[in-house]
Amino acid sequence: MTGQEFVIVGGGLAAATAAETLRGEGFDGVIRLVGAETHHPYIRPPLSKEYLKGDAERDTVFVQQDAWYDDNHIDLVLGRSARELDVGTHELTLDDGQRVHYDRLLLATGASSRRLSVEGSDASGIYYLRTIEDSESLREQIAAGGKRIVVVGSGWIGLEVTAAARGYGNDVTVIGMENVPLSAALGEELGAVFGQLHRENKVTLRLPAGIRSFAVENGRVTGVVTESETLPADIVVVGVGAVPNIELAQNASLAVENGVLTDERMRTAAPDVFAAGDVANAFHPVVEQHMRNEHWANAINGGKAAARSMLDRDGVFDDIPYFYTDQYDLGMEYSGYPPLTRGAQVVYRGNLAGREFVAFWHLDGRVVAGMNVNVWDVNEDVQSLIRSARRVDLNRLTDADIPITEV
Ligand SMILES: Cc1cc2nc3c(=O)[nH]c(=O)nc-3n(C[C@H](O)[C@H](O)[C@H](O)COP(=O)(O)OP(=O)(O)OC[C@H]3O[C@@H](n4cnc5c(N)ncnc54)[C@H](O)[C@@H]3O)c2cc1C
Repeated sequence: MTGQEFVIVGGGLAAATAAETLRGEGFDGVIRLVGAETHHPYIRPPLSKEYLKGDAERDTVFVQQDAWYDDNHIDLVLGRSARELDVGTHELTLDDGQRVHYDRLLLATGASSRRLSVEGSDASGIYYLRTIEDSESLREQIAAGGKRIVVVGSGWIGLEVTAAARGYGNDVTVIGMENVPLSAALGEELGAVFGQLHRENKVTLRLPAGIRSFAVENGRVTGVVTESETLPADIVVVGVGAVPNIELAQNASLAVENGVLTDERMRTAAPDVFAAGDVANAFHPVVEQHMRNEHWANAINGGKAAARSMLDRDGVFDDIPYFYTDQYDLGMEYSGYPPLTRGAQVVYRGNLAGREFVAFWHLDGRVVAGMNVNVWDVNEDVQSLIRSARRVDLNRLTDADIPITEV
């Protein structure tokens, strides 16, 4: 593929991993990486965890250090958005009018925070968390402690920010639409484990509660108005999910449905155009349906698969979705196929109340997902068990004395 020009749109983890993989696989053509942010690619998980808490240096969030891009002849076009994609002429137009030819192109445009548009939404003091700058300005606000913070959203990011804000000694109230935090992702029983963790850390949970508007004085937020009350706030953090950045694909008439549709090789409906990461809704050969995952591992492994596919090598993406969280002294890893967990029975080994356990989603005799909480070095075994699709005995599965590999 000497002399070929590959363009990667999006400067996040999927983009960086694809560039690394292309070079790792020996691609010696042009790699042009167009990213809207001015930084070279960084990882986002620390932005609501160790970086927000002040426990990690800025350098540690970058996927690669500056020199790597020079050493590997990656042409970085940063601070530039791709505005138009012409899949017929194989041309990308940037926001400054520059036209860029591609032989193959990867869409890795990621996702953006879902924004609220209720009355008062544009007041100052309301924070979202997606970029490194968002994390830094939020940290500046919460680091001194002593503030009243209302977190809107009881999902992963909302709860991680809550833990960080409590760590600095702020007063935190969480509102969300669910009865129990994270119940949409984990079910009520496991969501309650997280609810209890936050209560023990003196967080006020107001669930379910929907936001009606923001109370604002002199342009600054002073409270969050729900159906039943006004919660006073010096700062509000909104974590109500993310939406895939599909505009470029949509305007190019690619197939888009909850993200850019791809096959299991990350190929979109247009020739020579691939997609990976948060923006891709990729067909998964095991669950036999499309899945869009907003996870760190999905950006890495999807980016790798897309790069291999761009090189016409085996690029089938059939990984088991994986993600993790850290809140206070709780660390968790989850692996599994969310579409298959509906209707599954959740069983445990270990101590649920003591928050040291492994949960398994058990469906039709086999394990379709697993989550280890404060139990380490088992995730690979959980993944092997899921991948094997073998029938397991429930008594053995829930017996912590039997290694997962021998269930
Ligand atoms: C605060 C936070 C905490 C998280 N924590 C976890 C966690 O604990 N565990 C976990 O598994 N996952 C976590 N995630 C999710 C994980 O970070 C994402 O899944 C991952 O960042 C997706 O990578 P990506 O490269 O697909 O997209 P992104 O990281 O969104 O990067 C896409 C990039 O493309 C750029 N872009 C968009 N449109 C254009 C365009 N037209 N032209 C040029 N550039 C464009 C964007 O500006 C952005 O820089 C977290 C996310 C956030 C925000």
